[in-house]
Amino acid sequence: MSSRADASKDAFRLLPSIEELLHDPRLRELGASVPREVWLGFLRELIERWRSEIKAGKLDGATLSGRLAGPALVTELSAAIGRERRAGIVRVVNATGVVLHTGLGRAPLHPEAAAAMGTVAGSYCVLEVDRESGERNQRDDRLSELLRRMTGAEAGIVVNNCAAAVYLLLNTYLARGKRDEVIVSRGELVEIGGSFRVPDVMERAGVVLREVGTTNRTRIADYRAAAGERTSLLMKVHTSNFRVEGFTEEVTPRELAELGRELGLPTAFDLGSGLIEGDDVEPLPEVMGDEPRVRDAVASGVDIVCFSGDKLFGGPQSGMLVGKRAAIAALRKNPVYRALRLDKVTIAGLERTLELYLADRGDEIPSRAMLRATADELRPCAERIAAALRSLPDCTVSVVPERSQPGSGAAPGVFLPTWVVRLAHSRRKAAHLAADLRRAEPPVFVRVQDEALLLDPRSLLPGDEERLVSAVRSVIA
Ligand SMILES: *Cc1c(COP(=O)(O)O)cnc(C)c1O
Repeated sequence: MSSRADASKDAFRLLPSIEELLHDPRLRELGASVPREVWLGFLRELIERWRSEIKAGKLDGATLSGRLAGPALVTELSAAIGRERRAGIVRVVNATGVVLHTGLGRAPLHPEAAAAMGTVAGSYCVLEVDRESGERNQRDDRLSELLRRMTGAEAGIVVNNCAAAVYLLLNTYLARGKRDEVIVSRGELVEIGGSFRVPDVMERAGVVLREVGTTNRTRIADYRAAAGERTSLLMKVHTSNFRVEGFTEEVTPRELAELGRELGLPTAFDLGSGLIEGDDVEPLPEVMGDEPRVRDAVASGVDIVCFSGDKLFGGPQSGMLVGKRAAIAALRKNPVYRALRLDKVTIAGLERTLELYLADRGDEIPSRAMLRATADELRPCAERIAAALRSLPDCTVSVVPERSQPGSGAAPGVFLPTWVVRLAHSRRKAAHLAADLRRAEPPVFVRVQDEALLLDPRSLLPGDEERLVSAVRSVIA
């Protein structure tokens, strides 16, 4: 036998059993701090990990004895318990400046919307019953009415997210006899982060994709030439997360609607983000570039317009479909709707958010306020944070002009001027500090750039400034 085989044989003999670890007095307190099943799982994983290290020739008997006798055992298991405690959804401080950060849950809701959601979550509520007559009704009757008032559409229906909205739309029009083709511009076959690709959704919805035009130019004549016996829908998709610049041409929703009417074909426009504006709400457009507005899209005459609830709209995760009465009724009749419909909690949050818009209080919605904040308005906060961190050892702290991004593919190419706190440590790597901040209580997410942390006040909510400062202090001091 080779000496390596001998060494691993020794090591295998030294591997403790679960039983031995369970009775190890050094681990008793640690083990008691988590449910027994979880603890057993950690012990099993540890033994398995060591076993594979031995198999791979990376762990010999001497090293393993050292681990068993020394602090390694307790350290490794404490780390596992730490990861367990930090797992799952918890509140975080978003100091990245990305307002609609998909990884951090997109739009933070208005406190009144959040409260409405909390209340109905813990109680019974009027969901599918009419309070006046006591008769059964539709859970989203009120929501459709609010959407109608807000967007100028004839009707509306809401599903789980915008991806579900697109799916419902395609699946519904597919069910029309032999018509199984959807015509879309080649330049609009977008992939939105997190694996939502328009062509893939179409395929799963059972439709045949008919691409028209070229990557940079599509004209209405291209749609007209492609329309035929098998066409079920003419569709337009907002290229949310990229821009084609230069020699470009795209079909306007108005042209699409006119062609649809002429050919007797339904039309749809997936806006993605959906900039919603009431008559009196201060518009976001100056900061949002040429992001299309829901009202304009509806007014263009396309049958169905869809957009996300948790992007620029600033509500809970959902996907709205608004448009012509008959078109929306067809979506509602599709049995697939049942699988995509909203729960009471989300409906409550959406209703409250729409009511805020309709009461001309849309600018109070946190994500909108964050997007509108100017660099001048953000600077004092950056200065206060910098002042609170300047005394930290080994740190260079400054306040510098930067740019924040809206996020979520909303308004690509739009950069919002801001002031950030730049913090560089003379000995510790910025990426390591950022990792420590993510493990803080509450966790803090920051940008890392050129070996420094950038703390952008744009995406901070009330109370976050103090949380951010104390997290950075605890990680560095
Ligand atoms: C974001 C986006 C979607 C998906 O929206 P979700 O609400 O995240 O499901 C669909 N289409 C477009 C054009 C988008 O920008």
